[in-house]
Amino acid sequence: MKLGANVSVAKTGLLRAVEESVSYEADTYMIYTRSNRGGPARPIEQFNRDEALCIMSDHGLADPVVHLSYLVNLASQKDDTFEYGVNLLAEEIKRVEYLGFQYIVMHPGSHVGTGVQAGVKRIAEGLNAILTGREQLYICLETMAGDGSKVGSHLEEIAEIMSLVEHRSRLAVCIDTCHNYSAGYDIVNDFEGFLQQFDDVIGLPLLKVAHINDSKTSFGSHRDRHANIGRGSIGLDALRRIVRHEVLETVPLILETPGGHYKHEIALLRGLTDTLPPEGSAESDEA
Ligand code: FE
Ligand code: ZN
Ligand code: FE
Repeated sequence: MKLGANVSVAKTGLLRAVEESVSYEADTYMIYTRSNRGGPARPIEQFNRDEALCIMSDHGLADPVVHLSYLVNLASQKDDTFEYGVNLLAEEIKRVEYLGFQYIVMHPGSHVGTGVQAGVKRIAEGLNAILTGREQLYICLETMAGDGSKVGSHLEEIAEIMSLVEHRSRLAVCIDTCHNYSAGYDIVNDFEGFLQQFDDVIGLPLLKVAHINDSKTSFGSHRDRHANIGRGSIGLDALRRIVRHEVLETVPLILETPGGHYKHEIALLRGLTDTLPPEGSAESDEA
């Protein structure tokens, strides 16, 4: 099991992310390299990469993940929004290649009323404008809850985007337990069935990253509200079964839950405690 959390890069960059992950007794981690509020990105050379990589190997931390900024929307038909997203993702690929990390997770995008089909085509157009096939990493399309006009709540939409991208060997998928359950995939009673569908529609080898969150809303709600592990509609038993599944054995499993209880929740998922974390108050509406 490779468990980790969404950690901070404030001030000391990767050193901060790694120190935080060590304090959670994590095996992996996820970061955002830039603020989701916009503005210029901090130069990646200031992230203390080499020092952090040493500490990572000392503590058995591996397979770190970068989450792309929410400001990217490749599904937009507005040229300025689309081009901003293309430029930002192209820049992010270079930043993450500098770090030597293998995975960038991105939300496919919101079609903003133009329809799923138009969104799917536009996302593929964006990826085709960026990818050369020589990238040293995977762009992992994240499965969504189906809130708003977001593309990617059905596995078929993710598969269709991939089929339209020339260098699709650079693409992979990130599942998110909160999103999948809210989208109407019954991962509580039939995680096997979900994996079977994933295999049929996309192919299990392309499942490279998983976000592990409970959900504040009910099955099929099409809402995206992350709950603390064991405090939501998915529940502790189902989440423990999921993280222990052999298909996810080598996949980085990243918590994006509210309130900063990651150390507790990682121990809970490992079965080291049965006490539930306090309920985090902060609403995590994206991720
Ligand atoms: Fe997520
Ligand atoms: Zn979410
Ligand atoms: Fe996300």
